Amino acid sequence: MEDESEKYGSCKKCGALFYAPYLVCPFCDTPVEDFEKGLELKREAVQDRLKQQLAEQRRLTDSNRKLMQMSMDEIHKQDARQAKHVGLFLLILIAVIAAIVLLVIYL
Ligand SMILES: [Zn+2]
Repeated sequence: MEDESEKYGSCKKCGALFYAPYLVCPFCDTPVEDFEKGLELKREAVQDRLKQQLAEQRRLTDSNRKLMQMSMDEIHKQDARQAKHVGLFLLILIAVIAAIVLLVIYL
């Protein structure tokens, strides 16, 4: 693990160690200087890294979308629950008003 992190460097801004090659820090989006120097590497190697990062970003996007979907579902559930509470409250209010009206009429 130690060798791996040295190979790929660390973020100059937040200090995160990289266990894979990154163009920008996956934690704070700061461009990775070590990678800039590494652009002298063969084109194929660069493309491999880009491909890896794209795959990683696609995976993150997918999990973000899943999380977003989950929270949207939760919001919808809460809305439904709230709507039920409001409905119940209105029903009780109408019942109370009806009872008062009946009392006024019969007294
Ligand atoms: Zn960082």
